[in-house]
Amino acid sequence: MSDILIVGASVAGVRTAQALRTSGCQASITMLSEETELPYDKPPLSKEMLAESSPGTAVPLLSSDEVSALEIDLHIATRAVRLDPDRRVVHTADGREFGYSTLVIATGVRPRTLPGTDGLAGVYTLRQAEDARELRAELPRAKQVVVIGAGFIGAEFASAAVKYGASVTIVEAQATPLAHILGEGVGRQLAGLHALNGVTVLAGEQVSGFLGTDRVTGVELASGRTLPADLVVIGIGTQTNSEWLADSGVPISNGVECDENLRVPGFPEIFAAGDIALRQHPIYQTPVRIEHWTNAGEHGGIVAAAIMGAPSPTSQPPYVWSDQYGRRIQIIGRPSLGHVAVTRGSADEPGFLAVYANAEGICVGAVILDDPRMMLRCRKAIVTGQKAADLDIPTLHREAFAK
Ligand SMILES: Cc1cc2nc3c(=O)[nH]c(=O)nc-3n(C[C@H](O)[C@H](O)[C@H](O)COP(=O)(O)OP(=O)(O)OC[C@H]3O[C@@H](n4cnc5c(N)ncnc54)[C@H](O)[C@@H]3O)c2cc1C
Repeated sequence: MSDILIVGASVAGVRTAQALRTSGCQASITMLSEETELPYDKPPLSKEMLAESSPGTAVPLLSSDEVSALEIDLHIATRAVRLDPDRRVVHTADGREFGYSTLVIATGVRPRTLPGTDGLAGVYTLRQAEDARELRAELPRAKQVVVIGAGFIGAEFASAAVKYGASVTIVEAQATPLAHILGEGVGRQLAGLHALNGVTVLAGEQVSGFLGTDRVTGVELASGRTLPADLVVIGIGTQTNSEWLADSGVPISNGVECDENLRVPGFPEIFAAGDIALRQHPIYQTPVRIEHWTNAGEHGGIVAAAIMGAPSPTSQPPYVWSDQYGRRIQIIGRPSLGHVAVTRGSADEPGFLAVYANAEGICVGAVILDDPRMMLRCRKAIVTGQKAADLDIPTLHREAFAK
């Protein structure tokens, strides 16, 4: 029996435990992870870990020394399979029971996949360190790489693969990659980065099947075309790891429903954090589920404050970054809540900027390339409700970002 049981030991779970200890929590903390290694960070899996120079080691989130120093009872290779909220017990796949007074659900998401890929070597998704290690081992011998999905993970993988000299093709169902979040114009700008770096994007194409018996040899498209492939990465979005909560009564729709403080309604002793949490967002006054690293870390602080009865940290607008072809893309706020009001430059040069405003002209989001100072200005504009027309946007200062 533990005072606080955290299920999932990635950034949301780890930051919760760290924030609890920082705020003076003396309670016992137990953490369960289905993974077989110590907690590590996920963003480097599609970036540094795929580089030729990578030693294949994941970036740790928590070392064994920190586990001891924080007095966390960490159980790796321990998968939660059922929650019994009446008895306040989590059952695990190895037949054990872990009791709790307070439960934190931080089991995140996993990649969606496609039919016809089971047991087919050479077809991957990318979520865990082992995926990155296997892909890193495949890349030097890959000649024809097909990436399915032009979201950030697909784009980052394409950017890593092309450096090995492989021919890389991205297949994307939308007519313009990322148009659903960033709009057609900005989506086209970012898709242009692929072409600039020798990666082909087949947009508006659906995958209908895979060729190969033991190992993949090709990808079939609904348009009738076949793409030869010796390595395939599927990056078509995610699904929440919430099956273990089925029948528990915990409300689940697009994630675990929770209030502003990440507490689950009807279960005052249960919280959700990170990618799995569908939070009543204090900025947007609506339930929002966000799959970004910064958000998961912030959730750790919010849950810890709620458990300790302390004031909640101020919520920030969503923020995500992506590294592609040596460029840093930053997205702040929620571009999908507005329209493009201001742009600067184009994506083939550093400093490209698109600011999104709502119907009243107020900044709601921005996309920025290689200009972290501008990202901070845009964040301030969003937080203070500034009008896009009043933004003071300096002209490009290329020398600062010249590669
Ligand atoms: C390859 C990759 C690159 C990324 N790059 C960026 C980036 O550049 N910028 C950015 O902002 N975000 C990025 N992200 C997203 C970011 O990493 C996530 O938002 C973040 O990891 C979410 O943390 P989490 O703790 O909520 O969930 P997760 O990281 O998904 O962790 C959940 C953990 O719970 C475990 N688990 C699941 N079910 C169970 C169970 N039943 N029992 C026990 N354990 C369980 C999982 O194995 C996992 O270890 C990236 C993600 C990936 C995969």
